[in-house]
Amino acid sequence: MINFFTKESKLIVIFFLTVIVLGSLLVYLSIQNISNFKELTEKKISEEERNLAGQYTLEFQKELETLALTFEDLMSKDSMINILRFKKLDTVPMIKQILKINKNGVFLWPHFSDANSTTKKESPSFPYLEKIKIAEHSEFADQDYLMAEDRYVSALKGARNKSDSANVFNAISRLYLKMGQTEKAFKSYTLILSKFHHAVNSSGFPYAYYAVNQLLKIPKAKKNVALKKILVSFLSSLSEGLIVLNHSTTDLLVQISTWTEPQEKDADILKIEELVKHITDQLSLIDNYKQPIAELLIGGNVNHTEMFFGGYVVLKPLSGSTDELLLFNKSIMKPNGFTLTLEPLFDSVKQQLFSDLTAFEYHLAMVKNEGQHHLSTNGLINYFEFSPYFNDYRLKIVPKNAQIVEDYVFKRKIIFGIGFLLVLGVMAIGLNLLVQDLKRKKQMERLRADFVSNVTHELKTPLTSIHMFAESILIGRVPSGSGLKKYANIIVKESNKLQRMINNILDFSRKESNKLDYQLKETDLSDLVHTTMEEMNYWLEISNFKVVLEIEQPLLAKVHPEGVKQALSNLISNAIKYSQTNKKLIVRLLKKENRALIEVEDFGIGIPREKLNLIFEKFYRVNSVENESASGTGLGLTVTRDIIEAQNGKLLVSSTLGKGSIFTIMFHI
Ligand code: ADP
Repeated sequence: MINFFTKESKLIVIFFLTVIVLGSLLVYLSIQNISNFKELTEKKISEEERNLAGQYTLEFQKELETLALTFEDLMSKDSMINILRFKKLDTVPMIKQILKINKNGVFLWPHFSDANSTTKKESPSFPYLEKIKIAEHSEFADQDYLMAEDRYVSALKGARNKSDSANVFNAISRLYLKMGQTEKAFKSYTLILSKFHHAVNSSGFPYAYYAVNQLLKIPKAKKNVALKKILVSFLSSLSEGLIVLNHSTTDLLVQISTWTEPQEKDADILKIEELVKHITDQLSLIDNYKQPIAELLIGGNVNHTEMFFGGYVVLKPLSGSTDELLLFNKSIMKPNGFTLTLEPLFDSVKQQLFSDLTAFEYHLAMVKNEGQHHLSTNGLINYFEFSPYFNDYRLKIVPKNAQIVEDYVFKRKIIFGIGFLLVLGVMAIGLNLLVQDLKRKKQMERLRADFVSNVTHELKTPLTSIHMFAESILIGRVPSGSGLKKYANIIVKESNKLQRMINNILDFSRKESNKLDYQLKETDLSDLVHTTMEEMNYWLEISNFKVVLEIEQPLLAKVHPEGVKQALSNLISNAIKYSQTNKKLIVRLLKKENRALIEVEDFGIGIPREKLNLIFEKFYRVNSVENESASGTGLGLTVTRDIIEAQNGKLLVSSTLGKGSIFTIMFHI
C-alpha cells in the first residue's frame, strides 16, 4: 500500500503550496506594480515637464542677455547706416526693430522729426525772400498766375540752397495745377522728388510730402507708371531715413494706400505696399516707445525695468501689445535699443533645450493666459510661467505621445505577462521533474524489493543442488566411480555458479561505492575466451546448446582477466536463460581495426527495441511472458557493463525480438 505521507509526497505538497503562494504573490505584486507604475510614470512626466519649464526659463533669460550683448557689441563696432545697409541684424531673427535716439529723445532711427524740433537752417537771402513775396502777391492777391510764374522763376536765381529751390518749384507746380496744366504740374512735382527730396521748408517739413500729396491728386494720368516708380523711390527714401518721418507721414501713407488699393497688383504696387507697411511699423515703434523712453530718460517711474548686461532695460510698448518688448540702453551717448517679439524668441529658446535630458519627448507651445480665465493643468498637460516680461503667456508642455502612459503600462503588462508565464513554465517543469523523480524512486523501490526475493531465489537454487548432491554422497546413495565424479562435478559447477552470482553482487556493491577498480594486464583474449567456454560448457551441455566458436588467436589486450571472464560468463548465462527453442550460441573473438571484439550471439527470445536502453539499468528485467520462466536479479548486465567499462571497454547490444541477440564486448588494443 502506498503511504501518502512519505517524504516525497510531503515534498510535493510543499512544492504545490510554494507554487500557489508564490504564484498568488506574483500576481498580486504584478497588479500592484502596474497600477503603481501608472502613477509613477505620470509623476515622472509632471516632474520632467517642471524641469523642462525650469530649464526653459533659464535659457529664456540667457537668450535675452545674449541678445543684449550681441546688439551692444554690434552697435559699438559699426554705424547704424552700415548695420542697416548690410543687413547685419539678419543673423539675429529674434530682433524685430531697432531704434536710436539722441540725448534729447529725438528719434535718429527711425528718423522722425516733430516740425518744431528741426535743426536750424541757413536763412534764405533777402532778395530771394523779396521776390518770393512779390510772386506770392501775384499768385494769391492778383491771381495772375503767369506773372506769378515769372516772378517765382526769377526768385530761383536768389536761391541759396536746395530748400529755397524746392520752395520755388513747389510754388510753380502749384501754379500749374491752378492753371489746369496738369502735365506741367506732374513734371514739376516729379522734379522736386528727384532733385530735392531732402529739402524741407522753414518748419522742417519736407517738400517731398507736398509733392506726393499733389501728384496723387492729379486725376489718373497716363503718368501712372511713372508715378508708381516715383512712389517707390519716395517711400524707399522715407524708410531709409533719407526723408524724415513726421506727424503727417501716417496721413500720407493712408493717401498712398487709397491710391494703390484699386490698382492691379504689379511688382511696383506690391513694393509700394511693402514699403508702406515697413514705414507704418517704424511709426508704431515710435508711437509705442516714445513715451516710455521719455519717462526713462527723465528718470520717471517706469514699470517692468530690470538691468541686463550692458545696461539694457526692458520697456513695454504703449499699445498694450503683450507679445513685444524693447530692450533699451539709455546709458550711452546715443541711446539705442531693439524690440523683440515672443514668437521667434520662443522658437529660438526651444531649439536650445536639451531634449536628451528627459526620458520622454515633449511638445512645447506658447499660449496666452486669457484674462482671469487661468489655464489649468490637466493630467499630463502643464502650463508654466517662464518670464516676468511676458506674464500674459504660459509655456504649455505636453508629452508628444498622448498615449504615452497607456503605452508604457501596456508594455509593462506584457513584460509581466511573459515573466509570469515563464515562472509558471519553470514551476510546471519543476513539478514534472519532481513527479518523474518520484516515479523513478517508487519504481526503484519496487525493483529493489523484487531484487531481494529474486536474489534469495537465485542463491537458493544452486545451494539446494549442492546440498542435495553432497548429502547423496554422504549417505552413500551414489553409485561409485564415474557416478561419484559426476556428482562432485555438479557440486563444483553449482558452486561456480553461486560464486559468479556472489561476485556479481559484490561487484555491484563495489561499483555503487565507487570502488570498482581493476589492475589491467596484457592478456591473450583467445585463452581467456577458451577457458571461460570450458567453464560454462557444463551449463551449455545440460541445456542442449549447440555452440560455435569463431576465435582469432592470439589477440592481446590490456584487461583484467577475471573481470572479462565474469562478464563473458554472465552473457553466456543470459544466452542460455533467454533461449527457448533455438538453442544455439556463437561466440566470436575478432579484431576490427584497433579493437578487439568478443561477440556472444544467441537465437533466443530477443529484446524489444524500446527496452534496449533499460536492460543495463540496475534491477531492471524485461517484463514479458517469455521472460517469466527465467529467474534473475536484474543485476547481470549492469555489473557486466560496469566491469567492462572499468577496463576502458564498451558493452554493446543489438537484438531482434523473437530472433535473438548479440552482445559485444569491445576493447581498444
Ligand atoms: P537477469 O538477472 O534478469 O538476467 P540481466 O541484467 O542479466 O538480469 O538482464 C536484464 C534483462 O535483460 C533480463 O531480465 C532479460 O529480460 C534481458 N536479457 C538479457 N540478456 C538477454 C538475452 N540474451 N536475450 C534476451 N533477453 C535478454
